[in-house]
Amino acid sequence: MSFKISKPQKEIQKAARDFAKGEFDKDLAFDMERAQKFPEDVRNKAAGLGFIGIHYPEEYYGAGLGILENVLLAEEFCKKDSSMGIGLMLSGFAAECILRFGTDSLKDRFLSGIASGEMLSGEAFTESVSGYDTGDIKTWAQKKEDAWIINGQKTLVTNGGKAGVYCVLCRTDPGSIGADGISMILAEGNSEGLLSVNPRDKLGMRMVSTSDLVFNNVKVPCSNLVGKQGKGVLQALAFYDEARILLSAMALGTARGAFLRALDYVRQRELFGKKLAGFQVTRHKLADMAMGINIAEHLVYEVAADFDSGRSDSGRIAMAGLSACQAAIDVSSEAIQLLGGYGYMAEYELERFYRDAKSMGIFLGNTGMMKDIIAKNIIEKIK
Ligand SMILES: Cc1cc2nc3c(=O)[nH]c(=O)nc-3n(C[C@H](O)[C@H](O)[C@H](O)COP(=O)(O)OP(=O)(O)OC[C@H]3O[C@@H](n4cnc5c(N)ncnc54)[C@H](O)[C@@H]3O)c2cc1C
Repeated sequence: MSFKISKPQKEIQKAARDFAKGEFDKDLAFDMERAQKFPEDVRNKAAGLGFIGIHYPEEYYGAGLGILENVLLAEEFCKKDSSMGIGLMLSGFAAECILRFGTDSLKDRFLSGIASGEMLSGEAFTESVSGYDTGDIKTWAQKKEDAWIINGQKTLVTNGGKAGVYCVLCRTDPGSIGADGISMILAEGNSEGLLSVNPRDKLGMRMVSTSDLVFNNVKVPCSNLVGKQGKGVLQALAFYDEARILLSAMALGTARGAFLRALDYVRQRELFGKKLAGFQVTRHKLADMAMGINIAEHLVYEVAADFDSGRSDSGRIAMAGLSACQAAIDVSSEAIQLLGGYGYMAEYELERFYRDAKSMGIFLGNTGMMKDIIAKNIIEKIK
């Protein structure tokens, strides 16, 4: 398919670019990344301008727009600063589970708070034993009268310890095995018996907290069930598709930001009597970087537009994710190389872009898993 970014979409892109230019201060980013904190005043300003939850309906403080518009924001923010962009775009991580599967009452309770910047949200799926095997989770929710009682432990939770609400995958159907019998249940961050432990230090994405969550007889109302009982894994897979589109956009912006910094440098830097941009080896590197970014851009915009028109395709989303994450890693690595010794220094930002890029290739599925999804779709569709 082919499509063009519309005029209103270009205006959103420009608004995001202007916001990032005005608010994503380089020194602030440097300090906050070291301190592993996100500048909350920047989040509040972004929320005030409607940049969080742009794809939520207007009654929940959103703008009623699509994933493509959210993709344009993510790309612009991460282009200016990968760490700030990631921190901002993950403010409402996993809230799409509520948006797509939740009841009106759950949407009322949580989406406005997330979009207005009052609370963060998080996804609590992974367990230390289950890893990528979502069907192997052990966290257990038992129904008692009008409540679910949750017990278990989740690991590597983004916004862990900070979120106002977590979407938790729990086994709810006694005796079930594998993916059947697992449900999605919301737990509020301040629930009694819910503890955030083991805050993680990490390579990239350092403005976003990551921790484990311990559920010790956490009691939540039965109405906190998201979607259908026993269908949590299917819903999680659908959420992964949507989340991978957003992640791809963050990776695309990170790649583009690293590319532009390298381009700027090789146009100015003179060596052996000519600009670095004049050496064939540099030009070929730039060509490879630009190609990777353009292929990723095409795929990311395409899957976002498809998603918005109800034609979501997991295989193509995985292709977009893989190419964007790979572009982010390759381009930021080459950009460091092009800047020579300076590229390795924190003040030139590229080492941070590279560290952020590396996290994206693991967060929502490793390379092998993405290739498996692509191959599965090809084998099933092309007969
Ligand atoms: C920055 C970051 C943020 C995260 N945020 C969250 C979050 O918010 N919520 C949450 O629930 N989880 C989160 N995670 C956890 C993430 O989803 C897990 O790392 C992931 O589920 C993998 O689990 P694991 O680390 O135990 O790896 P394993 O499942 O043990 O996999 C290890 C390696 O085995 C190989 N492998 C495993 N399965 C396959 C396969 N099917 N095909 C091919 N190779 C395979 C791959 O090389 C893989 O990298 C986050 C992770 C990171 C890095």
